[in-house]
Amino acid sequence: MPDARAHTAVRTAIIAGRLPAPAETVCGDCGRRASVYHHHSGYAPEHWLSVEPLCRSCHKRRHPKAPRRAEHATSIRVRPEVAEEVRANAAAARRSLNREIELYVEEALARRRRDRAARAVREGPGAAAGRAEDDLQDA
Ligand SMILES: [Zn+2]
Repeated sequence: MPDARAHTAVRTAIIAGRLPAPAETVCGDCGRRASVYHHHSGYAPEHWLSVEPLCRSCHKRRHPKAPRRAEHATSIRVRPEVAEEVRANAAAARRSLNREIELYVEEALARRRRDRAARAVREGPGAAAGRAEDDLQDA
């Protein structure tokens, strides 16, 4: 069963610089640029960081029956300047890096919901439904 905490653990590791962003790595199956981390050992806490970078199509192949990628993948594009900013904010506010990342992720998800709602209003219902490619893919 996918576990959002596993995805948070991966995000935290990426922003903290303990894990490269998937796009900085290559797909373990085909060697193209990766875009998601696959939890190949499942979602038990000890495996939260047991991840393998995969490209989108190979990841799909690993989960032929998965209805939505969001339910089992951590896809995150953490630009270096964002990681930098999060670290700087944490230091300035004397917050833990984990807390700062939580705040950042919450804000990014809220921004995505607002953008999506605005797009739905602009383009009519259903127009935004197929677009899941955002900075943050939550589980
Ligand atoms: Zn691949």
